Amino acid sequence: MTLEILTIPCLSDNYAYAINDSDSGETAVIDVPDAAPILRAISFKGWGLYQIQLTHHHDDHIAGVELLHQAIEAPIIGARADMDRLPPLELAVSEGDTFALGTEPVHVYDVSGHTKGHVAYYYPGAEALFTGDSLMVMGCGRLFEGDAQMMWASLSKLMELPAQTRIYSGHEYTAANAKFAMSIEPENRALIERTRQISELRARGEPTMGATLELELATNPFLRAARPEVKSALGMEGAPDWQVFAEIRRRKDNF
Ligand code: ZN
Ligand code: FE
Repeated sequence: MTLEILTIPCLSDNYAYAINDSDSGETAVIDVPDAAPILRAISFKGWGLYQIQLTHHHDDHIAGVELLHQAIEAPIIGARADMDRLPPLELAVSEGDTFALGTEPVHVYDVSGHTKGHVAYYYPGAEALFTGDSLMVMGCGRLFEGDAQMMWASLSKLMELPAQTRIYSGHEYTAANAKFAMSIEPENRALIERTRQISELRARGEPTMGATLELELATNPFLRAARPEVKSALGMEGAPDWQVFAEIRRRKDNF
């Protein structure tokens, strides 16, 4: 493994990430809620900054871009579909595009729903997926611009990635997400066990990021909308998957 990932807490509950390719020495930062903690983290590591990768246009993911870019002039990468709302991009990407960090490929997924033009970055070499506010650890982003059908389609794409893929999302919402998940599937044994682990992690102030997709598929209610046991728990036997997803999202909004 030549890729190393750094989880960088920013603002109240945001995360930025730095990922370093030791072969080339290149580092990318994914989302910039705040420049200072990112600069501190990468300079502590002695990493140079070669790319800034943005997931979506919300202020809590891009507010520090200008300052970071002033400090270290790295090209900014973001969604072509969201160009008008993002800082000026050197590289505009779309679903299915692949670019490189050093010698490592980075695949782009359109994961619209929370916003339109939201992207996720998948690093097969690190088995890591950076999801912003689309798929979140044990949850998913609110539907501000897209609808349930759109978000379900986005999540369904991510569900096809290898089971060992690790998920790094834009916020530390996992404890609250776990509480909500328990309201949907109180008898899910994997969920009960995971909820216990999450409260231990959070009690020690540790991030819950880097969960495997396999564990997400077993415990994240938003990824479980197609499961018969979830449909029957909601009294929605036979309903289309996306409608079950919509109901879970509606319940979370009112939780
Ligand atoms: Zn957002
Ligand atoms: Fe956010």
